[in-house]
Amino acid sequence: MNVVKRSKEIDDSALAFTTAVAAAAAIIVALVLPALHFYYVYQYNTGNIESKTEINAKQISQLIGHNPRMWEFETLRIQELLDDAARETYTEIQRVFAENGDLIAEHTTGVAPLLSPTIRDSHPLYDAGVIVGRVELERSLRPQLVQSLMVFVLSGLLGAGIFIALRAVPLRLLRRVIERASFLASHDALTNLPNRAVFQEWMTHTIADVARDGTPAAVLFLDLDHFKGVNDLLGHAAGDELLKQVSDRMSGTLRQNDVLARLGGDEFAIIQKRIAQPDGAAQLAQRLIAILAEPFDLSGQEAMIGVSIGVTICEPGGQADPSHLLQQADMALYRAKSGGRGNYQFFEEEMNRRLLERKTMEIDLRRALANHQLQLHFQPQIDLATSALIGVEALIRWNHPEQGMIAPDRFIPLAEETGLILPIGDWVIHTACRQAQAWPSLKVAVNVSPVQFRRGDLVAVVRHALEETGMNAGRLELEITEGVLMQDTDATIAILTALKELGVKIAMDDFGTGYSSLSYLRRFPFDKIKIDRSFIADMGRDDHADSIINAVISLGRALGMKSNAEGVETIEQADLLRAQGCEEVQGFYFGRPMAGEHIDALVQSFQNGDATAVATSAGRRAVADSTSASSKDDSRENDAAKGVSFSAPTAVAGA
Ligand code: C2E
Ligand code: CA
Ligand code: CA
Repeated sequence: MNVVKRSKEIDDSALAFTTAVAAAAAIIVALVLPALHFYYVYQYNTGNIESKTEINAKQISQLIGHNPRMWEFETLRIQELLDDAARETYTEIQRVFAENGDLIAEHTTGVAPLLSPTIRDSHPLYDAGVIVGRVELERSLRPQLVQSLMVFVLSGLLGAGIFIALRAVPLRLLRRVIERASFLASHDALTNLPNRAVFQEWMTHTIADVARDGTPAAVLFLDLDHFKGVNDLLGHAAGDELLKQVSDRMSGTLRQNDVLARLGGDEFAIIQKRIAQPDGAAQLAQRLIAILAEPFDLSGQEAMIGVSIGVTICEPGGQADPSHLLQQADMALYRAKSGGRGNYQFFEEEMNRRLLERKTMEIDLRRALANHQLQLHFQPQIDLATSALIGVEALIRWNHPEQGMIAPDRFIPLAEETGLILPIGDWVIHTACRQAQAWPSLKVAVNVSPVQFRRGDLVAVVRHALEETGMNAGRLELEITEGVLMQDTDATIAILTALKELGVKIAMDDFGTGYSSLSYLRRFPFDKIKIDRSFIADMGRDDHADSIINAVISLGRALGMKSNAEGVETIEQADLLRAQGCEEVQGFYFGRPMAGEHIDALVQSFQNGDATAVATSAGRRAVADSTSASSKDDSRENDAAKGVSFSAPTAVAGA
């Protein structure tokens, strides 16, 4: 958005409009006044000479009437009459003619000769009803015309005055209004700092300046630390006050050349020009960190915050555009934040590469669902006591057209950040339920992301999947992690309760990896606790791991929750877990995640009674593998995806 240009556009159209209005008013005044004046004068004069000739004619007719035959001899008296009638200031000639056209009397007033233009009128003279002559009056309109001309000049001046007044005054007002409006549109009302739009414009100029002068500039992206805390603790008024003080402090440390903008919330940005970079930016960043680390006084309340800063340098040879630069600074800021806040980081190309990769992956992932590149693999879950296959955990795989099988750890976080986890999560639930209909004896566990709790309509999605596939709700188990319970707990508990009311089972996944696992167990009656595979890996080697596993199993039993040990890779681990009273296991020893058709075969072999020895020392693991633990090995994954290494029932049955 080009704020400066836009306000100029408003200015131009307003200018044209007020100019037109003012010009119209001025023209009306300048032309109409003299025209009216002349019209009035003309009307007056024509009327005036008409009545004057009529009166004269009457008087002369009377004179003649007294002495009918002698009226030609009355010229002296007629002359007198004319003299009397001419005591006005007009330049005019009065004449009396006999019927034969002889001039009998004439009187001239004003300056002779009579100058054009003139108007004239005549009236007949009667003697006993017979026309005997006529009176004629001719008057010059020149003095009146000169008057009208003067009126024209004056009204022209008046018109000019009106034009100026009408144009200048409203324009000044309008300009002020526009200036205010564009200020509001381009500035943040709280701190009076320019906003993001203006900042982007400045960046465009800065990039041009850098290219022209050859001196690099720095873009600093700032984010206040612990601002949310102040807002939550002291209220929004205090938060606003804090932002004002922050912007004052920052403005105070900047040079005239530098520009500061508020990008929104507690985010600010600075362009630092014409200074040796990157040293100049580093010094400025240090200075800013120092001044914002000082306590703030918020109407008596002391508040301590801090700032993290990401810096990127705009080099003369670079091909940066504003949003690109801001993105780089943002990435550097992210690094600064994750590096423990209150520090600054410069953008590095490596970050750029990762960003690009991520972007490409995001674009690919958007298409993955529609292009049927996502698949579910299933990992067997074994009942330790009976060695029976009792369930499967659905694990998602992305069969990328170029990169081959991609493990969920590489794309689920991205899907969560972009919100793509919502359609993907729906798809997983539906697909898992549909596929599980082929294995009526098995439970199917599905992983659910915290994002689905926060943004999705999880209960409706699950209900719909159950209805659509006809699956028995009791066979569906949703695995959630502590991340789910760490967000808005009341809402989460409500969703979990609603899910339980549907008849769905809930398992706590990756137990022991979070911070306050135990307290979460108290908040919701989970059906199952899944002990994280890191503990299983340490079994028999680390006493702590052993006692934690032991404690979790007993705790689960005390709370009426089953325990499932994940990542069982050896028969020793399985035996130990059984000895400790663990109910259920899952791991490469029993079977890697595999495509659905391998589960079909596995179910078959269990039904045939071939697989009873699966969890005994003599048992061998089912080797169908989709993604290995080190899933970056493409060739292996591709093979695994085809399930090449699966050697049906006997492999599972072992002995
Ligand atoms: P998780 O829920 O803990 O899933 C178990 C992971 O451990 C799986 O990795 C599985 O392949 C691996 N695993 C199983 N047995 C063994 C073993 O014996 N040894 C070792 N080293 N690993 C074993 P995977 O399939 O790569 O999944 C990784 C994570 O991705 C899952 O962890 C889960 O959090 C997430 N995930 C997978 N599918 C989905 C999904 O559909 N939705 C969501 N939201 N997350 C999913
Ligand atoms: Ca899981
Ligand atoms: Ca797990």
